[in-house]
Amino acid sequence: MSEPLLIPCPHCNGLNRIPAERLADLPKCGRCKGQVLLSQPFELKQGDYASQIKGDLPLLVDVWADWCGPCKSFAPVFQQAAAQLAGKCRLAKLDSEANQQLSAQLGIRSIPSLILFRNGREVARQSGAFPLPQLLSWLRSQGI
Ligand SMILES: [Zn+2]
Repeated sequence: MSEPLLIPCPHCNGLNRIPAERLADLPKCGRCKGQVLLSQPFELKQGDYASQIKGDLPLLVDVWADWCGPCKSFAPVFQQAAAQLAGKCRLAKLDSEANQQLSAQLGIRSIPSLILFRNGREVARQSGAFPLPQLLSWLRSQGI
């Protein structure tokens, strides 16, 4: 038996302990009963940030804005990545307009920006939209 993984719930920020061998079984949150691991990106808000960057699964954040054309063209790629990486990496979208304080705190200068967090810390960052194979190979180089 492996150590359970700590994974924050995307719905209520509750921290769940989930055995690695159960990651594929669509585990439910102990607090809100929502699905902990999603096959699509969830929306990250300023108030959820501190809770969501924690845990044993990496979190990839796509910082975007409604007025940004490249962000919109990148959205389906990010969606596909979420489906492929379910159980390995959590994916979230941060609306930089709606969350200006957090965007400033993260030092966002251009969008789209991708930020990878692991165990509560930023470990990698990329700017610009790129195709799915390139996104997946960048994540592989980060051990995902
Ligand atoms: Zn929950």
